[in-house]
Amino acid sequence: MRAATTLDATPDLATFRAETRAWLEANCPPEMRVPMASEDDVCWGGRHFEFKSAAQRQWLRVMADRGWTVPAWPQAYGGGGLSGEQAKILEQEMRSLQCRAPLQSFGIWMLGPALLKFGTEAQKLEHLPKIARGEIRWCQGYSEPNAGSDLASLATRAEDKGDHFIVNGQKIWTSYADQADWIFCLVRTDAAKKHTGISFVLFDMASAGVSTRPILLISGKSPFCETFFDNVKVHRHNLVGTQGGGWDVAKYLLAHERAMIGGIGDRAAAKPLGQQAAAALGLDASGRLADPMLRTQIAEFEADEAAFRLAMERAGDLGRASQGHPAMPSMLKYYGAELNKRRWELMMAIGGAEALEWESVRSREGAVARTWLRSKANSIEGGTSEVQLNIIAKRILELPGA
Ligand SMILES: Cc1cc2nc3c(=O)[nH]c(=O)nc-3n(C[C@H](O)[C@H](O)[C@H](O)COP(=O)(O)OP(=O)(O)OC[C@H]3O[C@@H](n4cnc5c(N)ncnc54)[C@H](O)[C@@H]3O)c2cc1C
Repeated sequence: MRAATTLDATPDLATFRAETRAWLEANCPPEMRVPMASEDDVCWGGRHFEFKSAAQRQWLRVMADRGWTVPAWPQAYGGGGLSGEQAKILEQEMRSLQCRAPLQSFGIWMLGPALLKFGTEAQKLEHLPKIARGEIRWCQGYSEPNAGSDLASLATRAEDKGDHFIVNGQKIWTSYADQADWIFCLVRTDAAKKHTGISFVLFDMASAGVSTRPILLISGKSPFCETFFDNVKVHRHNLVGTQGGGWDVAKYLLAHERAMIGGIGDRAAAKPLGQQAAAALGLDASGRLADPMLRTQIAEFEADEAAFRLAMERAGDLGRASQGHPAMPSMLKYYGAELNKRRWELMMAIGGAEALEWESVRSREGAVARTWLRSKANSIEGGTSEVQLNIIAKRILELPGA
């Protein structure tokens, strides 16, 4: 589908669109213009990342050289320096040409925005360009065995030693901790205060005293770990924001995380479900999907998906204009997670018994079944659906209680 051109309110934007499209057509390798087959095709970057192909490496390099892995970040920090309108045009043209995201990372989605707001100039210069180029992969040290939904109960201690902190404690569900290079981590610097006793620190996962233990999931994969800190030394210059002011940084970052999870189905989208179903199940005499029940469900899904995509776009526009409601990310997270779970239920229905294949080459090692199971976690990660509904009830609907 050709991207809308009504957006191009000025000749400059129309020129930008034409140039962007021409550049993408010339520079995006054909292999990076087909839908990802599974999560294994995602380029996460980092010191230990093994590129799946020369095309994947090349695509990251040319996009990073242009600052287009993070198009709206300032050029001084490795970004493209694009305006909100230009960034949206780039996104539309990439979608229209089916270009894959050259890089996905917690650095881009979560830490980057927090550093841009709360980081010192030195912190921005040290970390943002490496995120933009995919050189350093980050993980998120928030949840603990007794601090999930009630995150502010976290107990990992950071003892103030003057020019450094000594960190002791345990995190859990730390996604890709065993593959990450650095961690952004919530620690307790004051045991007497709940929210104002929390600080936000950064450290290298190769630091002495850091260890990880992968947790196996029902999907057979292990995307997260228990993470242990045993007298880890963290220099004070790696404190983001003020000591005791970490909760503000944490909440700001969570809003970005939630908006990102809301878009999870959009990023993973391969062919539209209707097309996939038509290819798998065939059409009836009048050219409609042969299975009437599935036809109805897919039609409803695709209408909801189209509406949600517009809601995401609107939320992005409002955010760029500083007019977004602070609880908007909870709405996006809630609905996007539920929608993605529906998508994978339908994918299983389309695939029928074959979709249950777990290990065959034909099923790409059970890609559909494993992604279906993985999608169940969407309504837990980044804050559960129940918690998002509480936030929506309280902050948007202004209902009493909670
Ligand atoms: C795939 C995945 C990846 C993750 N990655 C990371 C990561 O990289 N880093 C990280 O720090 N964490 C990560 N998490 C952890 C995630 O943030 C927590 O699992 C989540 O916040 C819920 O916390 P909990 O598991 O302790 O559940 P609990 O807080 O114990 O909740 C248990 C149940 O009680 C409900 N509940 C709790 N409080 C309320 C309430 N006030 N009102 C109504 N219902 C309530 C919940 O909705 C849930 O159903 C990940 C989780 C998953 C599933």
